[in-house]
Amino acid sequence: MLFPFRQELANLQPYPPGKPIEEVQREHGLTEVVKLASNENPFGPSPKAVEAIAAQLTELHLYPESGCYYLRNKLAGLLGVTPENLIFGNGSDEIVALMAMAFLDNTHNIVCSERTFIRYEMGATSMGALTRHVPMREWRHDVDALAAAVDQDTRFLFLANPDNPVGSAVSAAEVRRLLETVPSSVIVVLDEAYYEYARAWPEYPDAIQWLAEFPNLVITRTFSKAYGLAGIRVGYAIGNPGIWNVVDRVRPPFNVNRLAQEAAMAALDDDGHLSRTVSGNAEGLSRFYQAFDSLGLSYVKSYANFVLVNMKRPAAAVYESLLRRGVIVRPMGIYKLPEHLRISVGLQTENEIFIDALTNVLQSKL
Ligand code: PMP
Repeated sequence: MLFPFRQELANLQPYPPGKPIEEVQREHGLTEVVKLASNENPFGPSPKAVEAIAAQLTELHLYPESGCYYLRNKLAGLLGVTPENLIFGNGSDEIVALMAMAFLDNTHNIVCSERTFIRYEMGATSMGALTRHVPMREWRHDVDALAAAVDQDTRFLFLANPDNPVGSAVSAAEVRRLLETVPSSVIVVLDEAYYEYARAWPEYPDAIQWLAEFPNLVITRTFSKAYGLAGIRVGYAIGNPGIWNVVDRVRPPFNVNRLAQEAAMAALDDDGHLSRTVSGNAEGLSRFYQAFDSLGLSYVKSYANFVLVNMKRPAAAVYESLLRRGVIVRPMGIYKLPEHLRISVGLQTENEIFIDALTNVLQSKL
């Protein structure tokens, strides 16, 4: 029996997460399963973060700091912003949802690319707001078309840089042009979930320097990817305190748990883990490109920890065949890309298992 619910939610489906390893083991009777489906860090969490979590276990009867006091101050120092410029969430995903809740109603719209992280649209839809999708140009955000899609009802423009699921990135010049064109009443959310992987690119924006000039700029980042803390849920956003003043009204008081705050602080001190992660990722991407080239598959050059590949056939069947061989990747049906798969970079051994399985699948009749 269904209870009456808000009609805005009628067409909203729950987010389909990547399949957990245990489920695939059970369903296919496998012992070894490689998961390259959720852009997780294959090197695991920083050992320093694990130690910090262990040290907190006897404090679990206490609520966490509601405002992430120590993490806030530490990160503000590292980023060169004021502590008031920051807000923290149960993953950066929660911050997107809270921003939607704080600023959107059914008279508004948001603007984003057609092939971008689906959680922006879900946040808007949940509040009754429309999403204006803008086609990409050669698999990259078309910043001029995005700016042109803004109208008087637009409250947010979301730009994932690098983009998920495509993996492409836009340059500092492009992002700056967008900021200069979009009216200051529109909050431009630069989603930098994959920042740590992309920042070595000389043209990657250093957007923090633009915060004073553009009070409508918000930058979201996460500890889930390069810091390897997806399981504990902590992300943050940098922006104008005037925006956080509103978001704080809908933020649950203890939204970032005690273990997550400690883990994030420790991870920030582990440069070795971060650089191993980033260099291992670059090696994995090159190996993938080489394998896809020799299999004759086209792909989008990635600035993140995953790659979007065109299978030139219904990708759902390839996905299923890979599952049977113990490799979980991500089908792209929800992104309306029925012939593409998104593959997260794994450990070297995992990447080789995937490449062997894919070669095998493509040589068989599926
Ligand atoms: N933004 C993008 C572009 C992402 O790919 C993800 C994770 N899939 C997130 C935000 C959310 O990450 P988290 O909630 O784990 O911080």
